[in-house]
Amino acid sequence: MQDPRRATPRTDAVLAEPRLRDAAVRLGPRMVKQAVVDSLARCRAGDISADEVPDVALAALPASATTLQRVVNATGVVVHTNLGRAPLSAAAVEALATAAGATDVELDLGSGRRGKRGRGTLAQLAADVPDAGGVHVVNNGAAALALVTCALAGAGREVVVARGEMVEIGDGFRIPELLESVGARLREVGTTNRVRLADYAEAVGEDTAFVLKVHPSNFQVTGFTSSVPVHELAGLSAPLVVDIGSGLLAPHPRLPDEPDAATVLRHGADLVTASGDKLLGGPQCGLLLGDETLVERLRRHPFARALRVDKLTLAALEATLSGPVAPVVGALGRRPEDLRPRAEAIAAALAGVVAAEVVDSLAAVGGGGAPGVELPSVAVALSDGLAEPLRRAPTPVVGRVERGRLLLDLVAVDPTEDGAVVEAVRHAAKHVGQG
Ligand SMILES: *Cc1c(COP(=O)(O)O)cnc(C)c1O
Repeated sequence: MQDPRRATPRTDAVLAEPRLRDAAVRLGPRMVKQAVVDSLARCRAGDISADEVPDVALAALPASATTLQRVVNATGVVVHTNLGRAPLSAAAVEALATAAGATDVELDLGSGRRGKRGRGTLAQLAADVPDAGGVHVVNNGAAALALVTCALAGAGREVVVARGEMVEIGDGFRIPELLESVGARLREVGTTNRVRLADYAEAVGEDTAFVLKVHPSNFQVTGFTSSVPVHELAGLSAPLVVDIGSGLLAPHPRLPDEPDAATVLRHGADLVTASGDKLLGGPQCGLLLGDETLVERLRRHPFARALRVDKLTLAALEATLSGPVAPVVGALGRRPEDLRPRAEAIAAALAGVVAAEVVDSLAAVGGGGAPGVELPSVAVALSDGLAEPLRRAPTPVVGRVERGRLLLDLVAVDPTEDGAVVEAVRHAAKHVGQG
């Protein structure tokens, strides 16, 4: 027998293989070289033959140059924070690609002079929220709130906020701590369950920078409760900032209790802050909408530069606003009667592969929006032993385990992904218990 070390080809000879050369153009030479080096080590160890070296290296390469993977969201949670919140529309994805190169984000091509950054996106946003005299975009909802607070209350001035609205957003981050971190002092009013207009009126004084109303977007307090509506808070002598959270620009018929920017501004709020990647269905960003002078002051504040969005965000946001229905909005509109035929087709395609049953399901909005709202949905129920192999499939499918079964809820699955779901289950069925 030949010594495998002698039969091992040279690294540059393997790298010259056309398929590996193409891969190096696509993924970068470093990644491809590492795969070849690993593959050669296995050849030297006698694990694989010299002929197999290129194929083994190619098989070890990822599909793209990011470790992030496309995932099918079959959790039944429409805006899933761990799955990147809102998936972008095809129009927004195309806009990202257009803006990725050199672009006129801050150049007026007609005059050749500097142009206002993101003017097309801001004009679209202003057109979509006519009640806002001024609009600005920052990195996320928390950044929007931080900028308002830093600019208006940064020098130790007071923000008046109800105790029942001191929200923890997620991952241990809390709105009251965020406000304090940029120099504001909190003036808490009311109790956990109740606050009255008189509580606010008593607290507002010389030191008040603004009154903040926060939408409790991820929990519900029921029973003996009261909060003060925007139109009453608007009558106080301090500016009113409302953090609506979810980014609805106008009322949504299926989410009657979810605040929207247009209504809140019409009811007298001076400023609205919101996220772009929740119910608006766009890229991660934070919206600041409202009084023109106030928004301009925020835009010119030194801290605004630290929260500035990039050209990709501006492009994707504009396409979300002006383009076709965003996936999140489409998901919110899906009815069980739309989903059942799809679930039946998926179950039929899996006949003889795994036991699959079409079941009714209750989906949720998630991601800090419409707490307590249940969306009637339809799911394909499988054995819960498939949950893990499905997450490891080439296109991972993430479902939800409920009462000992894995539900693949279709509310947030685009119809074009149904085939990928079937493929993933077929793949998972072959790999059960091998994780
Ligand atoms: C989600 C949310 C935030 C935080 O927004 P990010 O975009 O995650 O920074 C702040 N306030 C409310 C009410 C929210 O729902």
